[in-house]
Amino acid sequence: MMEHIFIWASAGLLIVMVFVPYWLSFRRRHTVAATHKKEAQQLGLDKPRAQYPLIDSSLCIGCGSCVRACPEGDVLGVVYGTAVVINGERCVGHGCCERVCPVGALKVGLGDVSMREDIPIMTDLNETTVPGLFIAGELGGMSLIKNAIDQGQMVVGEIASRISKSATPDGILDVVIVGAGPAGLSAALAAIKHGMSYTILDEHPPGGTILHYPRRKLVMTQPVEIPLYGWLKKNEYSKEELLEIWQDIIGRFSISISSGARVESVTKVGECFEVKTSQQTARSRHVVLAMGRRGTPRKLDVPGEDLAKVTYKLVDAQSYNDCHLLVVGGGDSAVEAAVGLARQSGNTVSISYRKGSFFRVKKKNENAITSLISSKGIRPIFDSQVLEIREKTVLLSTKDGQLEIPNDYVFVLAGGVPPFAALKQMGVTFGGQNKDTKSDKPGPDLPSKTPGPKLQTLDAVKARSRERAASNQPPVAA
Ligand SMILES: Cc1cc2nc3c(=O)[nH]c(=O)nc-3n(C[C@H](O)[C@H](O)[C@H](O)COP(=O)(O)OP(=O)(O)OC[C@H]3O[C@@H](n4cnc5c(N)ncnc54)[C@H](O)[C@@H]3O)c2cc1C
Ligand code: SF4
Ligand code: SF4
Repeated sequence: MMEHIFIWASAGLLIVMVFVPYWLSFRRRHTVAATHKKEAQQLGLDKPRAQYPLIDSSLCIGCGSCVRACPEGDVLGVVYGTAVVINGERCVGHGCCERVCPVGALKVGLGDVSMREDIPIMTDLNETTVPGLFIAGELGGMSLIKNAIDQGQMVVGEIASRISKSATPDGILDVVIVGAGPAGLSAALAAIKHGMSYTILDEHPPGGTILHYPRRKLVMTQPVEIPLYGWLKKNEYSKEELLEIWQDIIGRFSISISSGARVESVTKVGECFEVKTSQQTARSRHVVLAMGRRGTPRKLDVPGEDLAKVTYKLVDAQSYNDCHLLVVGGGDSAVEAAVGLARQSGNTVSISYRKGSFFRVKKKNENAITSLISSKGIRPIFDSQVLEIREKTVLLSTKDGQLEIPNDYVFVLAGGVPPFAALKQMGVTFGGQNKDTKSDKPGPDLPSKTPGPKLQTLDAVKARSRERAASNQPPVAA
């Protein structure tokens, strides 16, 4: 009898010692993830910018491997035994989450594209609803440098096969490429390979989004063949290495690029396109839009914003010393800029954010700014908005009334406006355009249930790109 009591008591003790702490930690983790998801929903950050992890909740066993594998921070979380998308906007699509899922419950994709108001409708060859107007790279919805390179050459392969059937009239280019990121550069190389006339127009220097990565960022990529150049074989490159490769390619193949040329409109006139920038109009038979999805920086629309001291990106924090600086925004780029500027000598740095606390930031950035705020290296001005930018000051509205602070430079880092409106003006139709509900927010409302058969996954898109690239193999250039 005593023996039985002892066995039961030991078993009970074991349960208390092992399972109670496990259950408490399980509950704590899930409450944190659920709170983050709610906050993200309130701020609209759960909506993805492009592709996102599609989770089949009926298969998910809640192991959390996908959460741990994601290098971008809190894109995913596990809430009460099922993986959920928390911060969809931050998903860049490299698919590490998909690869580690032991039960195949997670696929990275675009969801039901027919319902996505932020995904242009395209054929399998990436032609939009405007014949002759193609899309390559992230603008079509799928991130990743490899996809951009593959799609750039795929669409130009298709254009080459059309041109071979009827020649382009004199004085008109075969193709104008908008954007000199990986997709646009790959498209240009393919155009050279096919002996086509082309030019690239980009408002910025070549490199695309890669130019804006943090210094020495490790870029994860899968092996991919760059037309004429050869293979990018490694799985990891630093930002600087990648930019060097593109610079080498641009020089070696004398790629024709007009930098500082922001494309303002693309209009079809007869059989040709007129592509207008503020300085020139290029005429071509086909257009490849390789503009990415980041769009133009969000402006404040306040008096004084046109002063030379206002800028929309921070290139080199080290060039600011002994200045009064204001950073506007509450995301990672704003926080990184404020931290970088506060570490230079003699600066007084303030950060103005319209919300009551930073939420959108990675843990590393949150720790850095919290420590600088407590050591008075950065002054946070929460719940505030810029009212006016003056020569030597900035006027803000805060919960406690108006505040005027000394200022030499303003950095507005409040996100970007995606280029969807510009595409619609060109005549491009988007998924869900005829839906009753109207939303100006990018990204879909994420499904909480099992994805249906119409969902488009990364694998499917990659397989289609591979098939098309193989079937459109261009003749080898002389
Ligand atoms: C923080 C971060 C981390 C990432 N990490 C990775 C990673 O590790 N691995 C990976 O594979 N991918 C990663 N990505 C995604 C990758 O950078 C993009 O998918 C890729 O750069 C898309 O290439 P793209 O050529 O389609 O567009 P972009 O690189 O965005 O280039 C678009 C170009 O178009 C130009 N442009 C836009 N509008 C106009 C206009 N109106 N007129 C003229 N020019 C215009 C822009 O100036 C830009 O140069 C990351 C992205 C971010 C933001
Ligand atoms: S695709 Fe990449 S960024 Fe998106 S959730 Fe998966 S691992 Fe994270
Ligand atoms: S989606 Fe897969 S990896 Fe993520 S928690 Fe569910 S079972 Fe685990």
